[in-house]
Amino acid sequence: MTVPSTRTTYQVIDPSTEQPVVEVELMSAEETDRAIERSQRAFDQWRHVAPADRGRLLRSFATAVDGAREELAALEVRNSGHTISNARWEAGNVRDVLDYYSAAPERHFGRQIPVAGGVDVTFKEPLGVVGIIVPWNFPMPIAGWGLAPALAAGNTVVLKPAELTPMTAMRLGELALEAGIPEGVLTVLPGKGSVVGDRFVTNPGVRKICFTGSTEVGTRIMARAAVQVKRLTLELGGKSANIVFADADLEKAAATAPYSVFDNAGQDCCARSRILVQRSAYDRFMELLEPAVTGVKVLAPGRDDSEMGPLVSADQRDRVAAYVDGPGDGVEVAFRGSAPEGPGWWYPPTVVLPRSTADAVWREEVFGPVVAVLPFEDEADAVRMANDTEYGLSGSIWTRDVGKALRVARGVEAGNLSVNSHSSVRYSTPFGGFKASGLGRELGPDALDSFSDVKNVFIDTED
Ligand code: NAD
Repeated sequence: MTVPSTRTTYQVIDPSTEQPVVEVELMSAEETDRAIERSQRAFDQWRHVAPADRGRLLRSFATAVDGAREELAALEVRNSGHTISNARWEAGNVRDVLDYYSAAPERHFGRQIPVAGGVDVTFKEPLGVVGIIVPWNFPMPIAGWGLAPALAAGNTVVLKPAELTPMTAMRLGELALEAGIPEGVLTVLPGKGSVVGDRFVTNPGVRKICFTGSTEVGTRIMARAAVQVKRLTLELGGKSANIVFADADLEKAAATAPYSVFDNAGQDCCARSRILVQRSAYDRFMELLEPAVTGVKVLAPGRDDSEMGPLVSADQRDRVAAYVDGPGDGVEVAFRGSAPEGPGWWYPPTVVLPRSTADAVWREEVFGPVVAVLPFEDEADAVRMANDTEYGLSGSIWTRDVGKALRVARGVEAGNLSVNSHSSVRYSTPFGGFKASGLGRELGPDALDSFSDVKNVFIDTED
């Protein structure tokens, strides 16, 4: 017997004031199934929209997002506590990703392969309905990285934002309609992971899942999707290393390190939450790091000069705090920055010194403004320590020796590395994880391939 799931609501709370913002209706399993059916019907039309017209519609969607950039940014500040400067960048990123993939439908080439007796061609066929499941830490960009290439390839999309952060995704759904994207082509379904997300995985009408979130939920989804041989992209957790060699520009490495981990209050899968410093430069680096950390401006997120806002929820703040202030003999705090007093789920930027690589704060994804620092001896030691984790998403390497930079970049098991910088995600380059950090790649020139199946057709030309 199936028990009908009833519709419920979720009260969005502003993380910086703890004040209610809006009550959002959460979709039931039955409503999700109906939306998937509508999306299947829309697919029959959308896949046949001429490539140039599909491109034009994606460009008008990008223009609509650009026009609503301030509105979207303001929504993200209230819903997620992101700083206004980050939120503006995030809305702009959705626009840019739509723009970038608007050129893709006309360039989604198949091949002509030389064979005997005829002509052989391949076609890249859309999959059908794609289910995109988004986490709460970057509600806008992660939605855009999935939906733009999925739509460009001729699929339709059902998208579930995280329970905590539905507001910008819902607005993006409206903007798509205002821009002329036909009804049913992009459907945003706020709801619980265990209800809406679960139907994406179990309803055979959804042909692919694009999941970004925790490794725990991602592995469960992978096991369940296997039953239907459902296509899957997973973007999961991270515990990335920031490796600082003694020959690096130590001033620059120390000045930028806080922003590589405290950006978005550390709620970033690419956060460089382990700093590995060569022992001979360790004391000098720590001396330089302290003022950089205490100088991070943790302020009300709506202020233009705010560099870090609150954490997304009280639960998240408590989870983060437990790594540092939890029971037991605790972890040594080297130094910490400041955070506002009063309401809001604030936690100051914090630098800790683990006793060894066995400490939880060194091994687990904290997903908050906490960074752990340990020394290493030489190049081999740095690579070994960086790889001593189940994760492999990103990382940084600081050195003036180009050969060493490349050797270490090739040695570190991670999908996105940067040398003498902390850049990770550009829409024109591939993004994704090694090991337990994920499966498949998003963004970059080949993103449409993970939203298509290849069809081979042979045409006999013999008399
Ligand atoms: P989460 O796994 O709890 O939730 C992610 C999404 O999955 C949410 O929308 C949630 O509702 C949904 N979900 C939960 N249970 C589900 C189920 N049984 N079936 C289907 N959907 C379900 O993760 P979170 O706490 O929202 O996000 C934080 C995590 O996301 C961190 O581990 C972070 O590293 C990761 N992340 C990874 C990337 C990346 O690109 N690799 C980017 C951002 C965040």
